Amino acid sequence: MRTIQIKGGRIIDPSQGVDEVADLWLGDDRVLGIGEAYAQGTADVVIDARGMIVSPGLIDVHVHLREPGNEEDETIATGAASALAGGVTTVACMPNTIPALDTQGAAEFVVLQAQRARKANVYPVGAVSKGRKGDELAELGQLVAGGAVAFTDDGAPVASASLMRRALLYSKMLDRVIMQHCQVPELTVGGVMNEGAESTRLGLGGMPAAAEDIMVARDIRLAEITGGRLHIQHISTARSVELVREGKKRGIDVTAEACPHHFTLTDERLRTFDSNFKMNPPLRTADDVAAVIEGLKDGTIELLATDHAPHAPEKKMRELDQAPFGIVGLETLIPITVHGLIEPGHLTWVDVIRMLTVAPAKLLGLVDKGTFRPGADADVTIIDTETPWTIDPEKFLSRSRNTPYGGWKVKGRAHVAIVAGEVRHSLGGIVHEAGEAATP
Ligand SMILES: [Zn+2]
Repeated sequence: MRTIQIKGGRIIDPSQGVDEVADLWLGDDRVLGIGEAYAQGTADVVIDARGMIVSPGLIDVHVHLREPGNEEDETIATGAASALAGGVTTVACMPNTIPALDTQGAAEFVVLQAQRARKANVYPVGAVSKGRKGDELAELGQLVAGGAVAFTDDGAPVASASLMRRALLYSKMLDRVIMQHCQVPELTVGGVMNEGAESTRLGLGGMPAAAEDIMVARDIRLAEITGGRLHIQHISTARSVELVREGKKRGIDVTAEACPHHFTLTDERLRTFDSNFKMNPPLRTADDVAAVIEGLKDGTIELLATDHAPHAPEKKMRELDQAPFGIVGLETLIPITVHGLIEPGHLTWVDVIRMLTVAPAKLLGLVDKGTFRPGADADVTIIDTETPWTIDPEKFLSRSRNTPYGGWKVKGRAHVAIVAGEVRHSLGGIVHEAGEAATP
């Protein structure tokens, strides 16, 4: 057995209530366990994690990989490499590729390309409707057979209430969750940014908060009558957070995720007319940001996700109303979460790691991920919480560069990412193969 000893880090594993300085042992592609009881003599690889956090590999349930169809923006290989650079060892990729990820073969293609790339784990999320057109249910059972872990038409909402109702019923039988991009499409036509004082001032088309609120309310009610599992993607409005909170109180199976840009930036940023601040759902008001943070604090929103949405520079550099929505998210997930949630004291590292490990693993039904339970998958993220660094889009491993955070001076960065017992990302200096001199 090939063993890895991760020495002296602060091990945080919310799945087992662990937060202690100890050694973590990996054997081949499995977790052996935490502490001396699992010591295996001399390890083949020793990683000095003193002063760093050792977390189960982070999981991002909302990532766009653009392959097939838009390989100039990202490929499965470059997206999976970008994930590792951000400390994310597992991603769930959205089905808005060309063609849409709506067949068993399409799901199998994603799995195969990810295996070839040998970077982060990639799980396909199948389309709810054929071609993501919103008319006819996709073959959900066949998608599951091809490896799909959930369903969504993301990029677009499932607009039809009757289709959404049937999707919730069928996915319940398959024990999979329906993820919804909550938006009433008729209310957002021509929208570039949040509708409000800022859009009026700038003379730009608005997307009202109500477009999201109404769909969230509808879908929570549909989850209630079907008993299906509903997940609200990239929640962005104060009223939506309140609706999820009420729904949970009534015992409805609803979860929600928040993206770093929605708890760190407001629509005032659009005053620069910089397309790096154009996303969907749009950046909202300070009140909405406060409500999202409050939702994260009280457990209404139990997941963090990036909505990693890479676009090649020539597309994103168009005028604001022509540019596509979205930003590169994976490589700024940790530092922006530190900046927005941990440093201001809203959440602790334990909270954040729970939202990026246990919660997403549960959402997607990945029983051997997001935990250091002995026998679990040997996926690990080692985080340097202290060394300051500057976000430089030119150094992204993503094929794209679109970020609103370029030049930000931040803290918090993945130093090492291990997938299936292999060190697949490292900033260097702390990983030592057997026989090599270790640092004193
Ligand atoms: Zn979306």
